[in-house]
Amino acid sequence: MSRRTDVAVLAYAASHNPCCAGCDHWRYINSVAGECLRTAPVAGPDRIGLLGIVWSSAQPGPGHIMTPRGHVCSEFRDEVMP
Ligand code: SF4
Repeated sequence: MSRRTDVAVLAYAASHNPCCAGCDHWRYINSVAGECLRTAPVAGPDRIGLLGIVWSSAQPGPGHIMTPRGHVCSEFRDEVMP
């Protein structure tokens, strides 16, 4: 991943936590979306629903659920958050 994306994700998390961007379970794909590693892998079409995508001609393969950076759930964890 690029340093520019690291900076963008960290800056977003700093001003919006708690959110996926600041969660220890999140691995970003780009500056606005990433994968939640807290969840078990699912089938490709089930990965993109939380991004607001209802259909895509480019189907992702199976893997972790993708979330937008501003999403949050009860499993949020940030070990460095005060
Ligand atoms: S806040 Fe919830 S959905 Fe988002 S990365 Fe953390 S555990 Fe996953």
